[in-house]
Amino acid sequence: MLRNLAAAFCLLLLLLQGLLCPMACCAAEPLSGGWKYILPQVSGRPIAGPVFITPVKPYDDPEWLPAPRPYSLPIPEGRTTLWLTTILPTDSTYHHPTLAFATVEQAVRVYMNAQLIYSYGAFGSEQNIYGLRWHLVELPRNYQGKQLSFHLYTDHPRRLGLIEGLSIGESNQQVGSLFRNDMLKWLALPMSALLLMILLPCWQLLPRQRSFILRLSLFLLVFSAWLVTGVAAFQEPGIIKMSTRDLICLISFYLMPILLILTAKEALPPKRARMMLILTCLCSGVLVAALVGELMGKRLLDSWLEFYLFFSWFALLAVAACLDIESRSGSEICGSLILPAAGLPVLQIAEILARVHILPLIICLWTLIVLWLLRHALNERQRLRIINSSLERSVAAARESAQIDALTKCYNRGQLQDALIHETEIANATGAPLALLMFDLDHFKSINDTFGHDAGDQVLTGFAGLVRRHLDARHTFIRYGGEEFMVTCRGFTLAEAAEFADAIRADLCLAVLLPERQITCSIGISIWHGLEDSLAAFQKRADHALYQAKGTGRNKVVTE
Ligand code: GH3
Ligand code: MG
Ligand code: MG
Repeated sequence: MLRNLAAAFCLLLLLLQGLLCPMACCAAEPLSGGWKYILPQVSGRPIAGPVFITPVKPYDDPEWLPAPRPYSLPIPEGRTTLWLTTILPTDSTYHHPTLAFATVEQAVRVYMNAQLIYSYGAFGSEQNIYGLRWHLVELPRNYQGKQLSFHLYTDHPRRLGLIEGLSIGESNQQVGSLFRNDMLKWLALPMSALLLMILLPCWQLLPRQRSFILRLSLFLLVFSAWLVTGVAAFQEPGIIKMSTRDLICLISFYLMPILLILTAKEALPPKRARMMLILTCLCSGVLVAALVGELMGKRLLDSWLEFYLFFSWFALLAVAACLDIESRSGSEICGSLILPAAGLPVLQIAEILARVHILPLIICLWTLIVLWLLRHALNERQRLRIINSSLERSVAAARESAQIDALTKCYNRGQLQDALIHETEIANATGAPLALLMFDLDHFKSINDTFGHDAGDQVLTGFAGLVRRHLDARHTFIRYGGEEFMVTCRGFTLAEAAEFADAIRADLCLAVLLPERQITCSIGISIWHGLEDSLAAFQKRADHALYQAKGTGRNKVVTE
């Protein structure tokens, strides 16, 4: 299900890209006229430094060599500058004709006929010519049929002449096409933010997966940094300083495989984690060495990129193999990481070497993992809920068994104090009367002795049930101990309580709790005397009244 979802999302992104890119192409026309080039040389030796040839030689000058494929010329090693020229189309008219193109690692100057119309980066200097750079060059309205020449400079061994997406069109269309070119990045950016947000509840619900989630989030952050620093819209100085932007872009590119290996390390068992650590150290070693080189002024981050890509590819292949073995032995988390581990290097190589900009698609594979985590977190939450409710039930059961007498289901003696405090407080606050009834079954010992303990128990439960039928919300029913019970009567005067108690006593006389023996009980009643009274005295008076009932013949009600 998750895999299908990610595949569908991937397809949707590609479809969007597929739909929008032709629109971008229709909006502007590519320059497909004949191209010619000059590789400047001095007496057969390649020129190391900058070379200026101004004014530009005319298109028909014999020194220009025909360039069948203008953007990938057979350039010998060591060359740093190149001239390219073509004739601008004669059959199109634009209100604001604008040239759009991207250079990679090059300084560029653009001439129309012999006149300089655009310049980017310093020739012979390494300043500000990092990375892929989009250029929009406004042309005069009478550009038709004029000679357009590019003078390119780079100290990069393989980037000379690398121009992408060269086209001419209306200026607003060209700006729009820059956005459309970065469509995948624009789509992947909010997706990445969304995944980061989803990881937050996962972090809370899955404490054992926290370090895995942390690494996953770090990858997404680095990936987002790469997306932001890679879009053409943020290229203009002022939004982010140019060289910082390129540096972040390159470093995040290096960091992605490292963070992926670290994430896999968390998913793999300890015996394989050591291998992951070694791979992480090796990849980080390359990054650190390149950074040191960068600080020393050698542009190693960019020059080592291809080498690093192949290196990390092999590392990630090993990681994918380990993940595959673990996933076969049942590890779901490892299974979810296989695709990203195998896919990241392929997409990175496509991005850099084939210049097919599909690396943002890696977000689909991460979506898979995050959705897996989310499902896991939701299951975990469900499990915790079940445990919680069963705990709540056992706590309630424990509380009940601590308060309720198991045989008669009355409150047990432990609750007597609380019940008396509660009832007397109400009586004190409201001024309403409060009576306390104390019951004792007559000759109960002889029931036990004659008919057995079980019969005694039967009488106790029967008696409790009988009393309970007379009670309502004004009463609290407590088993004081053995065959003695207490009932608090809120709002009852002494006379009302006596009447109430006698009704119970009479009821018991009619009831058949044991067929062989009539059961009777004696009842002593006390009344609460307000603030000057005490709980102990209140109880003592009821006890005393009961004692009198016993002493004067039993089966009767005596008030204090
Ligand atoms: P009196 O009329 O003076 O109250 O006499 P009595 O026999 O009822 O009084 P006594 O206090 O001597 O006897 C109470 C008996 O209650 C003693 C004890 O064995 C019995 N008893 C206490 N708890 C239980 C119980 O949970 N089940 C049963 N079957 N008997 C109990
Ligand atoms: Mg007794
Ligand atoms: Mg008794």
